[in-house]
Amino acid sequence: MKETKTLNKDIWKIILKKLSLIYSDRVFKETFSNINSPYKIENGIFFLLVENEFIKNKIINIYLEQIEEIAERISQEKIFFKIILPEEIQKERKEEFFLPEEIQKEVKKEIFDNYYQFHLESNYNFENFVVGNSNIFAFKMAKKISEEAEIEKVKTNPLYIFGSVGLGKTHLMQSIGNYILKKKPYKRILYIKADSFIEDFANQLRKEKMEDFNKKYRNIDVLLFDDIQIMVEAKRTQMEFFKLFDYLNLNKKQIVITSDKSVSELNNIMERLTNRFKAGLIVDITKPDKKHLLEILKRKICEYEKQNFHIKIKKEVLDFISSHFNKNVREIEGALFRLLNYSQIYGFSKINLQNAIDSLKPLLKIDRNISLEEKIIEKIKNTISNVYNINNRDLISKKKHYKYSLPRHVAIYIMKITNDFSYKQMSFVFRRTYSSILKSFKKIERKIKEDIELKKVIEFILKKINNEK
Ligand code: ADP
Ligand code: MG
Repeated sequence: MKETKTLNKDIWKIILKKLSLIYSDRVFKETFSNINSPYKIENGIFFLLVENEFIKNKIINIYLEQIEEIAERISQEKIFFKIILPEEIQKERKEEFFLPEEIQKEVKKEIFDNYYQFHLESNYNFENFVVGNSNIFAFKMAKKISEEAEIEKVKTNPLYIFGSVGLGKTHLMQSIGNYILKKKPYKRILYIKADSFIEDFANQLRKEKMEDFNKKYRNIDVLLFDDIQIMVEAKRTQMEFFKLFDYLNLNKKQIVITSDKSVSELNNIMERLTNRFKAGLIVDITKPDKKHLLEILKRKICEYEKQNFHIKIKKEVLDFISSHFNKNVREIEGALFRLLNYSQIYGFSKINLQNAIDSLKPLLKIDRNISLEEKIIEKIKNTISNVYNINNRDLISKKKHYKYSLPRHVAIYIMKITNDFSYKQMSFVFRRTYSSILKSFKKIERKIKEDIELKKVIEFILKKINNEK
């Protein structure tokens, strides 16, 4: 046992060495220099203690995959990593402290199981889940069943949460687990993703260890089953899950399921199961609207501030992010995270629109899912720069020469009359203030009445844009 531990610690040293070769000194120092050794190694999981949530998120989002890959290459087996914060350790200790001594040991083990082995993330909770129209029903129901499950009065089984990716299903589901655990630390809460369940089931078949499998899955109080749609191809696993579901349901244990498919979309593939789901409560989470996204963004910034990460972000930047990264919450989080890192690296204390556009450019480009509006804007810009024979970039540059300013005014005018883009939207596109956009528009509106030549050019451009639709 001791030997494996030292071996494991050595593995971390080798990983660090490799990371130091891959990343620049600065990145390496900022992120990894304080993790000389794992905080602890238990059940094959490396616990890496980091100072704050910013670093934690950074490791999870950017480096973890690589770390796991390196670890697997070195040790020839899959090693799991859990990034933890000082407060998570304190929490564990505090709970230990308040419990009667005789059951401390037992409970401590349970807490450990609940928190770590079963992958509950303490930073997903109801308090930091931002509620809006798109998720209020799901949120209220999640809270209700948490309260019921905590006092063992399970009434709604299962709770089925569905919605497309990145909209907060996992966050909400984990909040249920954390809520119950906070009140009753000894509860056995099993959070599992459907793919791990499939894997567990397959392993169990190979090793004929049905008993272990059942012990893990049946001896619990709450089952949080994430991303069930993954199970569509796995017929045998579906059968096994069906059995488990009935067992837990019969024993009045709370079950929560998430999926990116509605129940009716799963009907053909999991009919026996979906019939059961319909007996419970089905709630959905939809895409947040702009106001809701802005609220989420502000709350995320507050969270960073709590970790001593102070940065001033202008309101127009928040508007820019929430209108360009609006597919889901994960996307908007990613954009904010990138922006903060960028500003940290370049030492900005204030983020203005220009910094934001520069830092987010790669994300804006990679996104193949550009909206129709953006396509139209691109088209208009291209046509106009062709007609005036200038570079596309000069259209939005700061160059004041008439050669550039006229096409710029014309572009603004055309965007307004053809698609009624708002001045605000155009102020993003042209990186200019609202009033300067308005001025450009008025200028052309006025000029066109006296300048026949200009009128003709604009008609020509309009025809070109329309023909190429
Ligand atoms: P899903 O499971 O639906 O794909 P997640 O729960 O993983 O989505 O959410 C993606 C990210 O967005 C997470 O970091 C989560 O904390 C965040 N998130 C989603 N919805 C909200 C919300 N309403 N308030 C705060 N954060 C949210
Ligand atoms: Mg999820």
